[in-house]
Amino acid sequence: MNPQTKHVCIIGAGIVGLSTAWRLVQDGWQVSVLEEGAAPGLVTSYANGAQLSYSYVAPLAEPSALTHLPKWLLQKDGPLRIHPSLSPTFLRWGLRFASHCTTAKAHQTTRDLLDLGYLSRRVLRTWLADAPASWATATGLDYRTNGKLVVFRDSAALTSAAAQVAYQRSLDVGCEQYVLSAAECVEQEPALAAMQHKLVGGIYTPSEDVVDSHGLCMYLERLIVSRGGTLRYDTRITGAIQEGRHCVALKLKSQNAALGSSDEISDVEEFKADFFVVAAGLSSRDLLKNFDTHAPLLGLKGFSITLDCEHGIAPSVSITDSHHKIVFAKLGHRLRVAGMVDLGRENRNIEAPRMAALIAQARDNFPNAGDYTKVQTWAGLRPATPSGRPIIDQTAFDNVYANIGHGTLGLTFAAGSAELLADQLAGRPSSLPRAPFSFKNA
Ligand SMILES: Cc1cc2nc3c(=O)[nH]c(=O)nc-3n(C[C@H](O)[C@H](O)[C@H](O)COP(=O)(O)OP(=O)(O)OC[C@H]3O[C@@H](n4cnc5c(N)ncnc54)[C@H](O)[C@@H]3O)c2cc1C
Repeated sequence: MNPQTKHVCIIGAGIVGLSTAWRLVQDGWQVSVLEEGAAPGLVTSYANGAQLSYSYVAPLAEPSALTHLPKWLLQKDGPLRIHPSLSPTFLRWGLRFASHCTTAKAHQTTRDLLDLGYLSRRVLRTWLADAPASWATATGLDYRTNGKLVVFRDSAALTSAAAQVAYQRSLDVGCEQYVLSAAECVEQEPALAAMQHKLVGGIYTPSEDVVDSHGLCMYLERLIVSRGGTLRYDTRITGAIQEGRHCVALKLKSQNAALGSSDEISDVEEFKADFFVVAAGLSSRDLLKNFDTHAPLLGLKGFSITLDCEHGIAPSVSITDSHHKIVFAKLGHRLRVAGMVDLGRENRNIEAPRMAALIAQARDNFPNAGDYTKVQTWAGLRPATPSGRPIIDQTAFDNVYANIGHGTLGLTFAAGSAELLADQLAGRPSSLPRAPFSFKNA
């Protein structure tokens, strides 16, 4: 197939849709991105934890998840909570999740995600060299290889994490990770000094990166437009026109002019293309019904705060506090703190008790990082599959594909997922096996 003459339409300008668009532009396709928001990356890809966490990919679905279930159901203020629901979506997802909670499946998922993570790292690093350095500043990327340190407060948790390090090393895929004592953790990241007495040790991975997710979305938007791709905002997809199992056009509502195009569009009702890629985050679940495809997605709610740390003592290395399950990333003069997983709460409301808990935990770790009374708060819904692997696959329609379900690590996996989707569309051998990322295995 000659991409030069074919038009691909991507639904969604989050980190996954934009990464896909840029990779397809590079391949020579004519690319349009349709987005219902007013700008790129304003939904789940906005103020997430900023971690490019290539080596920390173990899924939520593993054997101990089942033993923790009663605690997750009962506790009111823990890092992971379940609000049970009788909705078919919730129940089907829960059953499928439980079926993935075996050691063998968790190991296989870890392996698949490490491969995807390292592919993502290779691909993203080339993209970051694709534009003038001034673009990185203008879009607020704050990209750095700063390393990641996961710290532990109890010996059992550290022992189990060390076993995971040993397992990942045995895979021989290039995981460079070290088990550190509490004193070595502080040597690595002096800002931890205030909490050294609470620590038993940590796992350090020097090769991990951070990037501002919204900044990366804006950077990708520039790349796409610079090479002739088109982005249309305020454009909501409401349905599809089909001929059998072929999508002829999307039905959409649009008000504004296109960026990167001289076309004025208002109230356009049909949008034709040769191929369509659904990359609409959690909303993909409903959108894919138009293409007779069931997407097993659940929104795992999480929260973040961002504060100015220019004059404070904030960690330069990315820190994960495994006890509270929160992550810290320094982005220029800002400290981003993110965490919490709430299942069964599919709304983006900022919940005061959850925010207060996150602020208290952040202050407990880094009391002098900045002014915790002046934080920007945010909530998002991670679009998660039961297995923890994203879906990068053809739908039941011959010209409609999905790149969805990146859950807790969409920023990390976006570039590699775009590469795999581009391979599929071009009909060339894939960089990684496709089966792990199919609808069937989600
Ligand atoms: C608290 C928290 C912390 C996180 N931390 C990290 C981290 O540190 N590292 C990491 O790798 N990942 C992290 N994640 C996960 C990551 O943010 C997500 O996996 C990722 O943003 C998903 O991207 P997406 O493009 O699939 O979805 P989105 O960003 O939600 O993009 C989907 C887009 O589709 C658009 N859309 C939806 N429906 C329609 C429609 N009908 N018509 C047109 N457009 C539509 C939406 O407006 C949206 O812009 C975190 C998530 C949360 C909530």
